[in-house]
Amino acid sequence: MATSWGSLLQDEQQLEELARQAVDRALAEGVLLRTTQEPSSSDVVNYAPFTLFPSLVPSALLEQAYAVQMDFNLLVDAVSQNPAFLEQTLSSTIKMDNFTARLFDIYKQVLEEGIAQTVFLGLNRSDYMFQCSADGSPALKQIEINTISASFGGLASRTPAVHQHVLNVLSKTKEAAKILSNNPSKGLALGIAKAWELYGSANAQVLLIAQEKERNIFDQRAIENELLAKNIHLIRRRFEDVSEKGSLDQDRRLFMDGQEIAVVYFRDGYMPSQYSTQNWKARLLLERSCAVKCPDIATQLAGTKKVQQELSRAGVLEMLLPGQPEAVARLRATFAGLYSLDMGEEGDQAITEALAAPSRFVLKPQREGGGNNLYGEEMVQALEQLKDHEERASYILMEKIEPEPFENCLLRPGSPVRVDQCISELGIFGVYVRQGKTLVMNKHVGHLLRTKAIKHADGGVAAGVAVLDNPYPV
Ligand code: ADP
Ligand code: MG
Repeated sequence: MATSWGSLLQDEQQLEELARQAVDRALAEGVLLRTTQEPSSSDVVNYAPFTLFPSLVPSALLEQAYAVQMDFNLLVDAVSQNPAFLEQTLSSTIKMDNFTARLFDIYKQVLEEGIAQTVFLGLNRSDYMFQCSADGSPALKQIEINTISASFGGLASRTPAVHQHVLNVLSKTKEAAKILSNNPSKGLALGIAKAWELYGSANAQVLLIAQEKERNIFDQRAIENELLAKNIHLIRRRFEDVSEKGSLDQDRRLFMDGQEIAVVYFRDGYMPSQYSTQNWKARLLLERSCAVKCPDIATQLAGTKKVQQELSRAGVLEMLLPGQPEAVARLRATFAGLYSLDMGEEGDQAITEALAAPSRFVLKPQREGGGNNLYGEEMVQALEQLKDHEERASYILMEKIEPEPFENCLLRPGSPVRVDQCISELGIFGVYVRQGKTLVMNKHVGHLLRTKAIKHADGGVAAGVAVLDNPYPV
């Protein structure tokens, strides 16, 4: 994997010319973001950052990631239906982490009242890096699974044309033909459409919970467009709108501005800063309703880092997926080392090991959206501070994945073209729909490759660190 586009990366003038062509093609294809200056308006937009070349990914690892996606769908769905497991797993975390505690509180309220929702929709993205083993061969290791607001399925469908363009300009037509076609937004929309259909009310609409400032609007529009082509209408509202104009009837059907809602699709609500008191109330209202939430509160909790860590404990996968040893083996093969920091001997041991070899670990709080993890010296300082306090239970420790770096150019508006040492993260989109106890859809629907310079430990595309990419299978 190490060497990629070799001599092409040496010729600065050619790189600049290629970059100009690539950027124009990206704009023409709709690989777009709103600007940081005007995140609520599409008057001025720019291209979403991307790599000049597709990055080399071993075909075997791509296939492995696709093959395990249906297992991950089943696993997330199983966790979401297991209150005892969720309660036990999160018991120490919710004492110390207020955000998880509030989500859990809503979960408890909904359980106590009785779950009105009968159709369940999961749209997730499982993310991996390629661990460089001792013998130099790469292995697929899961970073995390995103069960809420998993993004870039729309833009990822627009980037293959850009890399094909770059390779065609270089008369590398055979190579261009190897770029995989990819359309996650179509598959994600298929899941939403299925859930909408099973909800069973022809006039009901889909409600997308949107943020006021949304740079990634075109990614979301790609899904909206697919739905509209199926004659399913989607309305975009904020939590604030729900609290003002949302209501439930006596059967707990959800109405927004008087319009019945079949499916609620969250592209907000995964970070503490996204919740005011009013927004928490709106979230509870949505969860109490019989509309299909994507995700419902249980599935959001199933995506926490604490749950991920407990899933790696011996016997847990077997308990959650009984009679499915092959699925269990496929899942476990992708797990990196994950360690609980709960008070007690096991947590003490993990902390001792991390302090002895900081470069081999990552400290993770229960947060989504990038930029929250701690590495190196920062991790050491945090662990020293936390180690005698119960607060440490709100974190987990994870083995640090070390992929082999390679060279590529990261293209960003306003930045000069230059070659960086990079690593990639592969995401696979998964979709499932369950009606009562019956699984009616379980699919993988495409991929996302993001690449960043190795000088950045953390952060995604939205955080301005990673850029969009395509796997070039080798
Ligand atoms: P978030 O929910 O904030 O996206 P992630 O677990 O995905 O949290 O971590 C954010 C980023 O940090 C990842 O995209 C990856 O670049 C880096 N990262 C996370 N875990 C590891 C790990 N175990 N080894 C190496 N890098 C990691
Ligand atoms: Mg992530």
